[in-house]
Amino acid sequence: MTYSDGTRVVHAGLPEAEVGDPFLPGPVFAAPYHLDPVAGQVGDNGYGRPDNPTRRRLESAIGELEGGPALTFASGQAAITALLLSVLRTGDTVALPSDGYYTVRSFAESTLRDLGVQSILVPTAGPYPDFSGVRLVLLETPANPGLDVCDIREVSARAHAAGALVAVDNTTATPLGQNPLALGADLVVASGTKALTGHSDVLLGYVSTNDPELLAKIETWRKHTGAVPGAFDAWLAHRSIATLDLRLARQSQNAAAVAALLSGRDDVTGVRWPGLSSDPSYPVASAQMRRIPGVVSFDLGDAQRVARFLAAAELVFAATSFGGVHTTADRRAQWGDDTGPGFVRLSCGIEDTVDLLADLRAALDQA
Ligand SMILES: *Cc1c(COP(=O)(O)O)cnc(C)c1O
Repeated sequence: MTYSDGTRVVHAGLPEAEVGDPFLPGPVFAAPYHLDPVAGQVGDNGYGRPDNPTRRRLESAIGELEGGPALTFASGQAAITALLLSVLRTGDTVALPSDGYYTVRSFAESTLRDLGVQSILVPTAGPYPDFSGVRLVLLETPANPGLDVCDIREVSARAHAAGALVAVDNTTATPLGQNPLALGADLVVASGTKALTGHSDVLLGYVSTNDPELLAKIETWRKHTGAVPGAFDAWLAHRSIATLDLRLARQSQNAAAVAALLSGRDDVTGVRWPGLSSDPSYPVASAQMRRIPGVVSFDLGDAQRVARFLAAAELVFAATSFGGVHTTADRRAQWGDDTGPGFVRLSCGIEDTVDLLADLRAALDQA
């Protein structure tokens, strides 16, 4: 029986029902576990860095949703850097999105460059270069914060023809928005800090791949470098995933209403939401994605106007990050993103749509 998304997230990674046991067992807090005095480690649990049952349950949930075994990390950056450092070697070239998560570019321009790994930057919307000589192509679609998208199937085919591996940062879409492995990517990498867990209280990252060699390599990397999530965070994340379908549905509904509101105002420019039929991302997004995320971007012209807007809005928290149950907005230029001074990334929460629209309208009028 294949179930729909709402059912899949509720059941993902749960153990078999046992009378007297909870549905989702609580976090197992352990550094070492009891060993058998004679046989040593019997079963899965020996030491908490490589082995934790709470983490394994979360990994089986994420793996079910992505369509490939998953390894979780202490943050999205821990997962992305684990992928880059376990795959790339001196003399290699990696293709990165020029408009994606800026910390990845900054890592490429420092640590990777110092290790003799070259990077080329490609805008998510293309055009894509010839990938000959490239070892790994990292895509981020929709790209954060500009929300351009790319055709994963098409770029993967081109990259594979040139002998390159393809990884997709699935943070913004989440595995309910799109499944890059099914679209031809070799690896998925993501921050679970955003919409996947969605309560703005956990840092998490993961890598998922159906290639057993890559999986083993990245698992060894994680064991050696140690950036694992703690048991409590893994449990919080697993608990949160049960509502992913509901949260995304409301976030997406709010984003559609907000994008329509903003597009209709002459004091707001550059409105981007891949679900708007007039958006440049719409043709690929509507064909490739099962749902469109709750993130909308737009421009208010200058930093002062953004500040007035944020001060006036009662339901919009000024905060970096996105994908949570609370509506948040971030003026990305303050963090060094290559965006204009008035560029805002608005992440719609799960508030009632009418309330959110009324608040945004009033705040824009005041700003
Ligand atoms: C936030 C983010 C990351 C980094 O994740 P952390 O959990 O903050 O380390 C990576 N990629 C994208 C697209 C992100 O939005």
